[in-house]
Amino acid sequence: MKLLEGKRILVNGVANEMSMAWAVAKKAAEMGAEIAMPFGSERMEKRVRPLAESIGAKFIMPCNVQDDAQVDALFDAIKKDWGGLDGMLHAIAFSDRDELQGRYADTTRANFKNTMDVSVFSLVDLTRRVSELMKNGGSIVTLTYLGGEKSIPNYNVMGVAKSALDSSVRYLAADLGKDGIRVNAISAGPIRTLASSGVGGFASILELNAKMTPLRRNMTLDDVSGAAVYLFSDLSSAVTGEVHHVDCGYSSTGMIPNDLKDVLLKGLDAE
Ligand code: NAD
Repeated sequence: MKLLEGKRILVNGVANEMSMAWAVAKKAAEMGAEIAMPFGSERMEKRVRPLAESIGAKFIMPCNVQDDAQVDALFDAIKKDWGGLDGMLHAIAFSDRDELQGRYADTTRANFKNTMDVSVFSLVDLTRRVSELMKNGGSIVTLTYLGGEKSIPNYNVMGVAKSALDSSVRYLAADLGKDGIRVNAISAGPIRTLASSGVGGFASILELNAKMTPLRRNMTLDDVSGAAVYLFSDLSSAVTGEVHHVDCGYSSTGMIPNDLKDVLLKGLDAE
């Protein structure tokens, strides 16, 4: 018996083969789950459809979370054909890339609202809808980043959105626990994707991160999908309201390692 045999999981947030959501969908399918895989905008369909078809995913249809008619249509279709769901991955975030550099203090009202709507309110809205289809309990997983707990250069308004996302996980877990529905976040380490390429200086974050984590490497797609499979499975049956770090230990440290410290100080002295 495979770990996710008999489970039906809605995976939101696949844009291409580099997406963390794709890694999760693929691994969950390998573990026996049936996958629903909508795409966030019409222009994503060309890339998403062949990926979805390669794992036999269903509901390959548009689901822009800011378009209620599209979200309604997705949930109507799932309700009609499947009747229920056991899991949902929320891997959705958006912000104006011009504001993912420079100062947080310069964030505009329009982009603040839009970032929160796409990246945070979508979890609330999708969770409410999905919970109505989870008659036998279920597991909801979102993806967050350390920038919601600590300030990270350039992450700016997206960090504030991740704080609200982490907090939403706790409130949603409290609402839905009595129905056997668990809600958790995976706080992933940095990895190159379409979304992360919009964050200013991301290449140097990746390079430095690999040298600073206790495991002295960056997180991989396999690392994140393995953690998601655990959270979707019954192995994590008592875990809810949690932000689970899958970041090679980076968030557990409070100072750069000694070997790097010496290099940094020498470099600064030379200036
Ligand atoms: P990605 O670009 O592959 O995925 C982002 C997804 O958000 C895309 O599929 C896009 O279609 C979707 N999206 C954006 N606006 C949408 C809308 N209005 N409606 C529906 N979907 C919409 O990048 P990713 O890095 O895999 O991002 C997935 C999640 O992981 C995001 O929440 C991101 O913040 C988070 N995360 C990323 C990293 C990283 O370093 N890449 C680290 C930690 C957390």
